Order: sequence, then C-alpha cells, then structure tokens
Amino acid sequence: MSAQIIDGNALSQQIRAQVAQRAAALTAQGLKPGLAVLLVGDNPASQVYVRNKVKACADAGLHSVLEKYEASLSEAELLARVEALNKDPSIHGILVQLPLPKHIDDHKVIEAISPDKDVDGFHVASAGALMVGETGFKACTPYGCMKMLESIGMQDLRGKHAVVIGRSNIVGKPMAMMLLQANATVTVCHSGTADLAQHTRQADVIVAAVGKRNVLTADMVKPGAVVIDVGMNRNDEGKLCGDVDYPGVKEVAGWITPVPGGVGPMTITMLLVNTMESAERAATAPQT
Ligand code: NAP
Repeated sequence: MSAQIIDGNALSQQIRAQVAQRAAALTAQGLKPGLAVLLVGDNPASQVYVRNKVKACADAGLHSVLEKYEASLSEAELLARVEALNKDPSIHGILVQLPLPKHIDDHKVIEAISPDKDVDGFHVASAGALMVGETGFKACTPYGCMKMLESIGMQDLRGKHAVVIGRSNIVGKPMAMMLLQANATVTVCHSGTADLAQHTRQADVIVAAVGKRNVLTADMVKPGAVVIDVGMNRNDEGKLCGDVDYPGVKEVAGWITPVPGGVGPMTITMLLVNTMESAERAATAPQT
C-alpha cells in the first residue's frame, strides 16, 4: 500500500494562519513583530530564499526588513549592522542568510546575534538551550520536521526508534536532540557509518538530511515507517528532489514527505513562529 503524504504546504498554511492571528493581536497592542534578513553578495539561491522569507512575513502581517549588501562588505561592517539590529526594538528576529562570502567568518557573525533574536536557532546559546531543555529558539528545519510528526499524532515517540541521516549543526544534530526530547531512541548516521541500511531498517522514523539523491531506497525502509526527507537536490532533468528515492520508498513507508512541498515550506513557517515567539517574549519582558 502506498504511504500517506505529510503535506508541508497544507500544514504550513494552518500554522501560518495561527501566526497571522497572533501577529494581529500583538500589533493591536502596539507591538508589530519584526524580522530583519541580511543578505551579503548575490548567490542566486540565497536571493530566492530571502525573498520567500520576506514575502512570508508580509503575508502573515509581520514587519520585515531586507538588507542587501555587496559581496565586498567587510566582516566588521556586517558585525556592526548585527549589533545595531540587536538594539533595535522594532526587530525581534535577525537572520543572516548563509553562506557568507569567504572573507567573513560565519560563526563570528552568528555569535554576534543576540540569543534573544536568534530566530534561526544557530547561535551556540540556542544549541545549548536545546541540549539542556531550556527555553531558546529551535533551528527551523528540524523544528518543522517535529511539527510534521506532531501533525500525524507522533508528538510522543516513546518506544520508537528514530534514525537521523546527517549530523550538521543546522539540521542533523538539532534534529536528533528534538527527537530525543520527544522520547525517541535515536541513532545518528553520517558519512562514517558503516552500514546505513542496517540502521534505517530498524527505524520507525527516518529523517534524511544529507544532500545526496537516493541515499534512502525502498530496501532500506521498514514497512510502515515514517520518512521525512530534508534533502534538496536536483535530478537529471534539473527538478528539485530530496535524498529519498520517493517513488520506491512511497510503496513501503507508512508516511512520507514529498520534495518539493514537504520540509521546505515548513522551514520558513517555523522562522515565522520563532519571530512571533520572540516578539511575544519582548512584549511580556520586564522593562529595563
Ligand atoms: P551538510 O552540512 O552537508 O551535512 C550533510 C550530512 O550528511 C553530513 O553530516 C554528512 O556526514 C552526511 N552524509 C554525507 N554523505 C553521507 C552518506 N553517504 N551516508 C550518510 N550520511 C552522509 O548538509 P545540511 O546543511 O545538513 O543539509 C542537508 C540537506 O538538507 C541538503 O540537501 C540541504 O540543501 C537540505 N536542507 C534543506 C532545508 C529545507 O528547508 N528543506 C534546510 C536545510 C537543509 P559527515 O558529517 O560525516 O560529513
């Protein structure tokens, strides 16, 4: 039997409608949630991403500022902009689009963002908060994957085995932590894993976050498993595809996310949720 689809577009619409309601309520109290997006250079993919993020803000009634800079912008100039935005009360979230030009240290820039405005969830303080279960901002892509699991009634993964393929700081590692927090037994696989299929065949939930086509094929999946495909690749025809052999795996899995229309829209949605959350925290914070 063919897997049921977890529709990231439909789920995003629902969550964005809730964000729009919250944004309208806060705006009515005189505080409009605001996101600043900083883009350095002219990477074509980054230009599309930032445009989508700014449009998503406008659609949900959030204020947004898109600052575009030449690739020649110095690290010091970028750090100064981040510092100014940290102090700007109309901005509740700061997002620096990666990758940055080679002469700028990504890590230094991310660490310059106030953890209170780190709506991408990439700051070491945000990663640490996730690790110890404190309040912080969760990285948007894995957060979106968790919302997809929640949407099919899998918010508590007690007794379930989850396998994450990939261990990047922005997807694989935070994904593993969030699954662990949801009580799953978690295995993290990576390029040094000897027999990937041996692990994935045991899994009730598989999250593929590698960036290579067909990393997960039907023979690697337990019948009925939930398969979440984070990957964004191009197939031979130049069309967007994930890490999962979708036509094959769909026939074995119980649930599957498509690419496009799966995790991608959820990532932007969770950015809106984090920005909204940040603004709500600012509204209730004691005045200094
Ligand atoms: P990344 O930093 O390149 O990490 C890829 C991970 O995959 C690494 O941990 C790597 O292992 C592991 N890996 C590589 N080959 C492998 C193999 N054959 N078997 C098992 N593991 C292997 O990438 P990322 O930033 O996490 O992104 C992963 C994918 O998700 C990309 O396609 C990216 O475009 C996509 N993505 C999508 C969204 C979205 O919104 N949909 C958001 C973010 C990322 P090592 O650590 O050992 O090198």
